[in-house]
Amino acid sequence: MIKQGPRDLVEQVQEAGLCIGCGSCVELCPYFRSHNGKTVVLHDCDLEQGRCHAWCPKAELDLEELSQALWGKPYRFTGVGPHLALTAAKAGPALGEGAFQSGGTVSALLAAALDQGMIQGAVLTGREGLEPLPTLARSLDEIKACAGSKFTAAPTLAAFNRAQAQGAEGLAVVATPCQGAALAQRRLDKVNPDAPTGPAELVVGLFCNWGLDPQGLMRFLGQKVNPETIKAMDIPPPPAGVLTVETTEGTLEIPLDEIRGFIPPACAICPDMTSEWADVSVGMLEGRPGWNTLVVRSEKGRALAEAAADKGWLVLEEMPADMREHLAGAAEAKRARALGAAQEQGLLGGPDEPGPKALRVGPEFWAELSQGKGE
Ligand SMILES: Cc1cc2nc3c(=O)[nH]c(=O)nc-3n(C[C@H](O)[C@H](O)[C@H](O)COP(=O)(O)OP(=O)(O)OC[C@H]3O[C@@H](n4cnc5c(N)ncnc54)[C@H](O)[C@@H]3O)c2cc1C
Ligand code: SF4
Ligand code: SF4
Repeated sequence: MIKQGPRDLVEQVQEAGLCIGCGSCVELCPYFRSHNGKTVVLHDCDLEQGRCHAWCPKAELDLEELSQALWGKPYRFTGVGPHLALTAAKAGPALGEGAFQSGGTVSALLAAALDQGMIQGAVLTGREGLEPLPTLARSLDEIKACAGSKFTAAPTLAAFNRAQAQGAEGLAVVATPCQGAALAQRRLDKVNPDAPTGPAELVVGLFCNWGLDPQGLMRFLGQKVNPETIKAMDIPPPPAGVLTVETTEGTLEIPLDEIRGFIPPACAICPDMTSEWADVSVGMLEGRPGWNTLVVRSEKGRALAEAAADKGWLVLEEMPADMREHLAGAAEAKRARALGAAQEQGLLGGPDEPGPKALRVGPEFWAELSQGKGE
């Protein structure tokens, strides 16, 4: 049996440089803490099995097992993952003004879920200077205060653990794909299903191709701008090739080549571009600023999107076929790159492959890969 205790987590993920700092292992016990965007271990713990390891998205993430448990079907290596609908979307008039990243679809869905009584609050990622600041939002104003993307990995799930431990229930989480994978693993928790921390009521996933190391970016940008003056950041679609930093003094354009070095190694083995384990997933809509791509995956997500559109929180439009194809191609390219990189590094395995693996795939795909035919 593969060991799944905190020592194994430290060895397989943290010491191996694969920790993305998602915060899923933080504040489950007194030992794991988040400091300056990094997950640190304060004390050694010899527990043989722990939720810290079982939920980590970078240790033993079994894509086939998760897909069967969540969607009742095999993991697919094509397209944007299981979905009921794929549309263009943006916030409707009910949401009002806000500093949204693109169309405000994420904020609109959360506002609608709160309005409907589907959730009691949402664990979001705000910002203090350059540092991402996970926080529990319980009102429309608090949701809007967290709008906008922070392009670094963030310990959002530490705030989720803390809120749950303090008794909060019915929470949504807005999650990057790695955070979404950690949340998905809670749905099949085999370690301690009676613990106060567990699955989220609703997961709104974000698209993500890569994130940046928070400490690296803070050091780099701190030399160029006063972090207190930053209003927003954006990575416009190709061919722009820049990170734009909007400050009270003006807008700075930083070539992506100057910040690529801050992409953590964990992102290279991340197969998920479109948050495949979420109830709904949201990304930019290329070529249409002010709009989002919305992927509706679960029945709960469908009910929310329909109610949000009915009540004026959300505007939905059909997505042209060429955009769907382009999106599917981009998701497939990221998946193939990540699985290739994981295999090269010995971090990918089939279901029965010995030794710790960061990622596992089903027997058929593993057989194909082992024969050198996998995509
Ligand atoms: C690291 C990162 C990489 C991304 N890469 C892509 C990409 O390659 N392609 C693409 O189409 N879209 C990408 N996105 C998503 C995109 O930037 C927008 O978040 C998305 O289009 C939703 O826009 P919106 O106007 O609906 O969001 P808003 O209504 O402004 O809401 C944004 C929400 O994102 C949450 N959030 C912000 N930063 C983080 C973070 N670091 N971790 C977790 N949650 C966060 C906030 O809590 C907020 O609720 C990325 C986002 C992040 C955080
Ligand atoms: S759960 Fe998240 S923060 Fe903890 S070790 Fe894994 S990747 Fe790092
Ligand atoms: S690429 Fe994957 S691992 Fe990296 S920040 Fe995005 S979701 Fe997380």
